[in-house]
Amino acid sequence: MGSNLDLRKYESVESIQDAFSRIVSGGKPGYKAVIERKKTPPKCNKCGRGGDPDQKFCNMCGGKMVTPLTNCPGCKKPIIEGDKFCIECGHALAQPA
Ligand SMILES: [Zn+2]
Ligand SMILES: [Zn+2]
Repeated sequence: MGSNLDLRKYESVESIQDAFSRIVSGGKPGYKAVIERKKTPPKCNKCGRGGDPDQKFCNMCGGKMVTPLTNCPGCKKPIIEGDKFCIECGHALAQPA
C-alpha cells in the first residue's frame, strides 16, 4: 500500500514538488525534492483490474491493459475517471480499444 497522501489537491507537478520538499526537508528553505514521475497504472479494459505500468495484458482475463486518461486530449484539463466526454470542451474521452 502506498501513502495516504492525497496529491490530487495539488494542481501542478511543481506544487507537489514544493510540498514534498517541505515534508522531506522538515521545512528547510531552498530544498528541492526530486520526484520520479510515475506512469499512470493501466487498467484491464475487460475486467477493470489494475496492473503494473508496463503491463500490456491482464493476467486474470487476457484483456488489453489501457492507461486511463488523466487529462483531456483537447483542452488538457484534468478529467474525472469514467467520464465519456470532457466537461470543459466536449472532447470524446473514449479509450482506444
Ligand atoms: Zn482483465
Ligand atoms: Zn477538454
